[in-house]
Amino acid sequence: MKGRALPLGVLLALVAGLLSGCEKAPEQAQSTLFAMDTVMTLTVYGDGTSCTGQESLDRNSRLIGQREAELSSTRMESPIYTLNQQGRGELSGDTAELLTSALELCRITGGALDVTAYPAVQAWGFISGDYRVPGAEELSELAENIDYRKVALEAETGMVELPAGVELDLGAVAKGALGDELRVLFQQDGIASALLDLGQSTIVTIGTKPDGTPWRIGVQDPEGEGYLGVLELAGLAVGTSGGYQRYFEQDGQTYWHIIDPATAAPARSGLSSVTVVSSSAFVCDGLSTALFVMGLEDGARFWRAHPELEFEAVFVTENGGIALTAGLEERFTLGRGYEQREVTVIS
Ligand code: ADP
Ligand code: MG
Repeated sequence: MKGRALPLGVLLALVAGLLSGCEKAPEQAQSTLFAMDTVMTLTVYGDGTSCTGQESLDRNSRLIGQREAELSSTRMESPIYTLNQQGRGELSGDTAELLTSALELCRITGGALDVTAYPAVQAWGFISGDYRVPGAEELSELAENIDYRKVALEAETGMVELPAGVELDLGAVAKGALGDELRVLFQQDGIASALLDLGQSTIVTIGTKPDGTPWRIGVQDPEGEGYLGVLELAGLAVGTSGGYQRYFEQDGQTYWHIIDPATAAPARSGLSSVTVVSSSAFVCDGLSTALFVMGLEDGARFWRAHPELEFEAVFVTENGGIALTAGLEERFTLGRGYEQREVTVIS
C-alpha cells in the first residue's frame, strides 16, 4: 500500500533525535545571574528535537554583561560615565539608538520620564547608599537641571553633549531594552517558549508555557510579601515600578528611588506601584516609571490619549486600591488572600 513509508525528512529527524538523546518533551534550561543591580532568571524551553535551549541560553546571556557595561551610569568604564564626567562623549550605535528612543518616550510622557534625573537620584543617596534628604534650595537647583531636552545627541555619530549640571542615566529603560534584545536573540535560535525575568521589574515572555497555557505573572503587593493578582500573558512583556523596590526611611517618611523631574524629590503621586503590559519591554520599563510619576488620574488620561503605544497598566494606589486599564480585565485575577480587594476598570 502506498503511503506506508515515512517521509525522508521525518525519518531523518527521528534518527537525529535518537542519536542526540533528545526527548520529545520540551526541555527546560535555566540560568540565574546577578546584573544591573538585580537577580535575573532566564528560563527557556528548547523544542525537544534540537536541544538548543542550554546552548542558546549560554550564548545569549553574554549580552547581559555587555549591555550592563555599556549602559551603566555608575561604572567608570562605561561610555555614559565618561560622558557625565566630561559633558561630552561618544556612544556606540546601539546606545545612541536606545537614547533616541528614550528621549522620544521622555517627550511623549511630557517629561514624567526624564533621562537626566540622575543628579537628583545621586543627591538623595540612591547611588552611594548614603541616604540623605536634600534641602529645598538644593532641590530646586537640581530640578532646574533635570531636562531631557538639554541632551544634544547627534544620532549619526553617537556624539552627545550635556550642559554643566546635566547628567544622563538610562537606568529607567535599560532592563526593558535588554529584554527586547534578548527576546529577539532567543527567537532567532528557534526558542518558542521562554520566561525572561530580569529582576521582577522587567519580565519578558516568549510564546506560551510549553503546555500551551499562558504565563502567569504575579503583581506584587507593594505593602507585603504576597501577590495582589496574577496576569495571564503570552508573548508580552511586563514592567513594574514601585516605591517598595528601593527606598529609605527618615523621620517617619519613606523616600524612594523614582524621582519626580518637576521637584527632584521622590514622586508622591498617590501610587505605590504601576505595572505596564506591552509587546515592548522597553515601553513597559519606561512607562512604568513615567506612570508612577504621573499618578492614577494623569496616568489614565495618558493611556486614553496614547492608543498607538499599545500598552495596558495596573495601578496600585497607596490605600491599596487596584485600577486596571480595560485591556487587562480578562487577563487579571486577584491573588490568594486578596479576593476582597476593590478593582476598578479604566475605560
Ligand atoms: P528599576 O530600576 O527598579 O527597574 P525603574 O525602571 O522604575 O526601576 O527605574 C528607576 C531608576 O531610573 C532609578 O533608579 C533612577 O536611576 C532612574 N529614575 C528615577 N526617576 C526617574 C525618572 N522620573 N525618569 C527617568 N529615570 C528615573
Ligand atoms: Mg522603568
